[in-house]
Amino acid sequence: MLRGAAGRLLRCGGAGGPRAASGSAAAQLRRRLESELEDIRGAGTWKSERVIASRQGPHLRLAGGGDGILNFCANNYLGLSSHPEVIRAAVEALEKFGAGLSSVRFICGTQSIHKDLEEKIARFHQREDAILYASCFDANAGIFEALLTPEDAVLSDELNHASIIDGIRLCKANKYRYKHMDMQDLEAKLQDAQKHRLRLVATDGAFSMDGDIAPLREICQLAQKYDALVFIDECHATGFLGPNGRGTDELLGVMDKVTIINSTLGKALGGAAGGYTTGPKPLIDLLRQRSRPYLFSNSLPPAVVGCASKALDLLMESNAIAQSMAAKTQRFRSKMTAAGFTISGKDHPICPVMLGDARLAAVMAEDMLNRGIYVIGFSYPVVPKGKARIRVQISAVHSDEDIDRCVEAFTEVGRKHGALP
Ligand code: PLP
Repeated sequence: MLRGAAGRLLRCGGAGGPRAASGSAAAQLRRRLESELEDIRGAGTWKSERVIASRQGPHLRLAGGGDGILNFCANNYLGLSSHPEVIRAAVEALEKFGAGLSSVRFICGTQSIHKDLEEKIARFHQREDAILYASCFDANAGIFEALLTPEDAVLSDELNHASIIDGIRLCKANKYRYKHMDMQDLEAKLQDAQKHRLRLVATDGAFSMDGDIAPLREICQLAQKYDALVFIDECHATGFLGPNGRGTDELLGVMDKVTIINSTLGKALGGAAGGYTTGPKPLIDLLRQRSRPYLFSNSLPPAVVGCASKALDLLMESNAIAQSMAAKTQRFRSKMTAAGFTISGKDHPICPVMLGDARLAAVMAEDMLNRGIYVIGFSYPVVPKGKARIRVQISAVHSDEDIDRCVEAFTEVGRKHGALP
């Protein structure tokens, strides 16, 4: 029998198992959480996690069985997550620089590899300087508040990533939300925002739910006309869009017109973790002084720095890797379209197979897995109601046979469930 302080804890498991606080507040909280969880299940929006028992790559082993699963839902665009040189660089950094810094950057958490990686990122994007974060979520959470005051304005695409939305929420600037990629609406909002000191247009370079690419040329023209700055989030572009994989700004020929880039090291650039901001030196200097996720969070671990640094070396040595994905994307998109499916977006390795109905997307994704193909169905509230889809992501390391197998499975499953005639 538990007594005293121990008695106030309710053992959930056996000895050594998890403990849960007792008392009426704790019981009330538990009831409320259970009811909320039940609501999520009832709404059909429960997100479950499949457990992978192998490295990230085009072929996976799932925990509890399921070998040789063809993986079409990672952001491993260039296949660098399991590239032997990337892994070796991580091991070397781990051995030379240790497991981690046990510190934030400005106390005693900056090693030569952090400075080298920042320099490399700036060189890759052809900018003046760069600053590392633990994630791009943090980079987005930290930039707007540090940069903008109540005298300024930020104009944000309505479908921007959640981390941009949250970052903007944290700042005190005047907020404008323009319709998705709607240049008329952006222009109207820029006109209204002329009364503010500084205007910053913020957009994803490529939008991850639709695989569509922001009209950066037009955005930059409007920014020039209305004296605004342009910020892009390049998480789904860095490393593979544009002739040298520099991103959306390179693809659309506006590298000299975009002022600030935030991106991730957790997708095409080795896939470990980490994010960054790159842009003018005084901005980067200011972020080191003011950006809260940078100031109050641990430095990136050396192994993670090693992965990203090697990924950038590989991309700067040759544009062959960046180029290799375009043909695979084209193969998938054209074969699926010929089979009768509608694929949203254009020329991007994010290939959303549009199905409309949430249940159809869920059962088709499940049936694809039964055929050894791992894809994910998305429905409301992640995407608008009636626009459910299965998102397929192509990687440079998919073979033509992998892609053809995926198209064949989609065709079979689509016919079976009435998505195709
Ligand atoms: N921005 C966009 C557009 C993203 O898709 C993501 C990740 O999903 C992030 C930011 C966050 O990146 P990270 O995983 O580095 O936090």
